[in-house]
Amino acid sequence: MTIHYDQARWSDAEDDIYEPLLPEKSQQTVAVEDSPLPDDLTRDSVTLPDLSEPELSRHYVRLSQHTYGVESGPYPLGSCTMKYNPPFAEEVASVDDAFVHPDRSAASTQGTLALLYRLQEYLAEIGGMDAVTLQPPAGAAGEFTGIRIAAAYHEANGDHERTEVVVPDTAHGTNPASAAVAGYDVVEIPSEDGRVDLDALEAAVGDTTAAFMLTNPNTLGVFERDIEAIAEIVHDAGAPLYYDGANLNALLGRVRPGDMGFDIMHYNVHKTFGTPHGGGGPGAGPVGVVSDLVEFLPDPHVRQSDGGFELYTPERSIGKVHGFSGNWLVLIKAYAYIARLGEEGLLDTSAKAVLNANYLASQLDLDVPYEPFHHEFVASADDLDASDLAKRMLDLGVHPPTTKWPDIVDEALMTEPTESESKRTLDQLADAFNTAADEDEEILESAPNRTTARRIDQTSAARNPRLSWQALDD
Ligand SMILES: *Cc1c(COP(=O)(O)O)cnc(C)c1O
Repeated sequence: MTIHYDQARWSDAEDDIYEPLLPEKSQQTVAVEDSPLPDDLTRDSVTLPDLSEPELSRHYVRLSQHTYGVESGPYPLGSCTMKYNPPFAEEVASVDDAFVHPDRSAASTQGTLALLYRLQEYLAEIGGMDAVTLQPPAGAAGEFTGIRIAAAYHEANGDHERTEVVVPDTAHGTNPASAAVAGYDVVEIPSEDGRVDLDALEAAVGDTTAAFMLTNPNTLGVFERDIEAIAEIVHDAGAPLYYDGANLNALLGRVRPGDMGFDIMHYNVHKTFGTPHGGGGPGAGPVGVVSDLVEFLPDPHVRQSDGGFELYTPERSIGKVHGFSGNWLVLIKAYAYIARLGEEGLLDTSAKAVLNANYLASQLDLDVPYEPFHHEFVASADDLDASDLAKRMLDLGVHPPTTKWPDIVDEALMTEPTESESKRTLDQLADAFNTAADEDEEILESAPNRTTARRIDQTSAARNPRLSWQALDD
């Protein structure tokens, strides 16, 4: 059944999208009296929005109607794992006791430290790592942290010639970016049939290699079945193997990165463990390492002490990568998710993530060039423009997949339904793909027409970007 969708559109008389900011609706100035603070720290008055509670509530509901989220419908954005964020984890994170000042003493925050410690242990067990830091605030920040740990390791070994980080051509953009920000030259190697080309890898690694970064299953959803040989080549060159954990959802409970030969990894808790995507933060991207690298972990780390838990600075720590112990409220949600699902639930997650992707692909009238895939696949829009097709899918009430990446598939539609979606929803999604792919060119080129924001002028957006909110009258 094709769904008909019209997104709410609050607009002004000119039909421009419009929901005024709170102070634009109404504001009032109130005098500040009797402040206990010194005069030079106080103001005579403050101006605040002046609205009734229903006006306030409607403002936020309207803004939410102008957006599309996982609670609106399916969101199969490949690589991003936009799974449902269960409210029970939100509830756990909003109990009063969760709001602990991070400067409080260890003695008075044993519960907090115990939770952090147990999450470190859960993640280490899931990843097959020896220790995990919870500090980095996103996957990309985890990559940066992991690469700095590799750098500290080489430095400690007096190995100063390692100036390059090697990545495959299917790597997520954050991999080369993190390596470059950490001061490395990036060497890209080509793929062979959608997998790492072992000859190209062998030729690329050597005395100057600081690390090889890889995700498995890779960006095409294809499992790197030569992973043991890959690990051997990289280790023989004296470099650690870095695991980009963004695709861990496909393997949960089945294969552990540590057992595949990876030495450093990050976990995207918003992809694998149901915490909300932070829109660049505040999220969490914990990093796991094997025993040789534990002493380099960021400061502070949580460990068991006599009868309790404490924070300490690892011996050769790379230092701080975030304030205090990381984004605590996000970490609670990841902990709650893992504890609630348990081993059986995590196994079920990866089984259904893979099953859902394979079922969805089987319902599409589009070609999927690389197989067998796991939790995601890359379909080709072929002679259609992938982003036009994606924009038309918006009109059909679903979020489209990731488009035009990875480059090795023409007009790529990188699709990851996640385990959260039912067969009914997958059928709706398949219908949206197939309907859009069958549409006349004019319709595709003018889409979307039923969403709050219509097709934007991409050239003007790039040439004259408006990077902050401006009132329409300005
Ligand atoms: C999402 C993603 C990242 C970056 O993670 P963030 O948490 O978004 O910073 C890295 N690699 C891959 C393959 C990803 O999908």
